[in-house]
Amino acid sequence: MSHKLLKGKEIAEPILNEVAERVTKLKRRGWTPHLASLEVGVNPAAALYIRNQKRICERVGVEFENRKFDRDITQQELLAAIQAMNVDPRVTGIILQRPVPRQLDLNELQTAIHPSKDVEGMSPTNIGKVVYGEFALGPCTSLASVEMLRSTGIELRGLDVVIVGHSEIVGKPIALYLVEELATITICHHGTRNLPQFTRRADALFVAVGKPGLITGDMVKPGAIVIDIGINQIDVDDGNGGTKKKTVGDVDFESVHEVADKITPVPGGVGPVTLSMLVKNTVTALERQMTLYEKAMRV
Ligand code: NAP
Repeated sequence: MSHKLLKGKEIAEPILNEVAERVTKLKRRGWTPHLASLEVGVNPAAALYIRNQKRICERVGVEFENRKFDRDITQQELLAAIQAMNVDPRVTGIILQRPVPRQLDLNELQTAIHPSKDVEGMSPTNIGKVVYGEFALGPCTSLASVEMLRSTGIELRGLDVVIVGHSEIVGKPIALYLVEELATITICHHGTRNLPQFTRRADALFVAVGKPGLITGDMVKPGAIVIDIGINQIDVDDGNGGTKKKTVGDVDFESVHEVADKITPVPGGVGPVTLSMLVKNTVTALERQMTLYEKAMRV
């Protein structure tokens, strides 16, 4: 069974090594990548992500600074904090932790992050560039999902790819990356009338919905590659008459791994590769800032 698993840590390892080398080169030239995180209020899920981001930054030599804001902060106050980071030369990358409290407009905040410091690849500018085939600062999860497919060595040209879920930061950019490789793409969503009819024809199936058990073994073509991006918490029996929380994807692992050639586990699949893409984007952002600065100094 383990030969079928696309393990996130193994796929992330060479990416992290390459990032660490690039950080060393930048530091030799006097530039230090500094990722500033904005955390609003207290949220256990966000706290876990922040710990993981800090750990991965330390691993590659990126400075990580988490700035905490009161949960009652206003939109204007948070926008001002983002503007201050945009113009602070010490801050080379910015990440806004989600979820944010209800009074805040997440989209406006995300858009306020300067595209050159938007290391999550979520600003309209960076997402827009993906349409033109420029992926260097693209959305991390979609980059990671495509990297997992690439790691199998499969020929992408002509591949029948089905993506379930069409969000701006996951499903749509995956489609744009792979169409650039001349794969044939089908995107499914709420409006799709007969989901299994589409999923069953996929050579590579990406699922990013947020519904545990959405994809079962009978919906998957034998020999397919299945990339499960969903993250869900479900209650399971704790063996003592009670329940405990378990993290699962959108794919019913038990039935699908029997049919698929390769499958990503949840947890331990797309998540670690997404983190490696975050630090890769952080380094790319600084390299671009450095190039612009050096060009300006020559003029
Ligand atoms: P999202 O913005 O809520 O998008 C979910 C998508 O699923 C929408 O396009 C929605 O379509 C579609 N959908 C809903 N019900 C469906 C159904 N029954 N059949 C087919 N499509 C359906 O979520 P997201 O941000 O893309 O995240 C998706 C999942 O990935 C979540 O579980 C999230 O936690 C996880 N995630 C994981 C990572 C990672 O690093 N591993 C990162 C980001 C997100 P409509 O809009 O038409 O309803």
